[in-house]
Amino acid sequence: MTVWFASGNEHKRKEVAGILSKHTIKIPLDEGIAFDPAESGKTFVDNALLKARALFELTGEPVIADDSGLCVDALGGRPGIFSARYGGGKKISDSERNALLLREIGNNQLRSARFVCAFVLLLDNERFFIAQETLEGEIVTDPCGDGGFGYDPLLYIREKGCTVSQLTEVEKNKISHRAKAAAAIARWLD
Ligand code: IMP
Repeated sequence: MTVWFASGNEHKRKEVAGILSKHTIKIPLDEGIAFDPAESGKTFVDNALLKARALFELTGEPVIADDSGLCVDALGGRPGIFSARYGGGKKISDSERNALLLREIGNNQLRSARFVCAFVLLLDNERFFIAQETLEGEIVTDPCGDGGFGYDPLLYIREKGCTVSQLTEVEKNKISHRAKAAAAIARWLD
């Protein structure tokens, strides 16, 4: 089946296409569709549903959408839904954003944090499925690794003995917040 993915992020498309490998995943950019809805929700689920509905309006075909971010306990759960916008959004690079986050946490001994991902499959306006998952870890003191994207170099996964950034794509896709939420959704698609 062809499913639209309400995202402009090529990294995320690659991850999701790997997980939903039985399906063809199209993003708005593939058809030259401008797509940048305001993420005005208060939760990951609100934002995922809002993105899914906005793309369904444009395509009229089944849509998947996610909203994700890093929740740091020492920061009361921030940056959370504001992860992509933390420190000024696209105006700063991922590594600048990571440095800023490490400065904000400073020497705080509380290092627990998690990636969270809400995933929505919208079949039509009144039929949708939602899953939310996490990847638990600890914030390192120095960024580590050059794979992945975003905050990957900051989250250390004890069971793997490395940061998310040091996992191969295949390993990340087995344990990630997005992989687990997308896998739940895939059961509704198959
Ligand atoms: P979204 O595209 O609005 O869901 O924003 C998600 C933001 O959260 C990304 O821009 C990253 O900053 C962060 N994020 C979400 N998932 C991951 C991940 O798997 N690795 C690293 N950063 C992530």
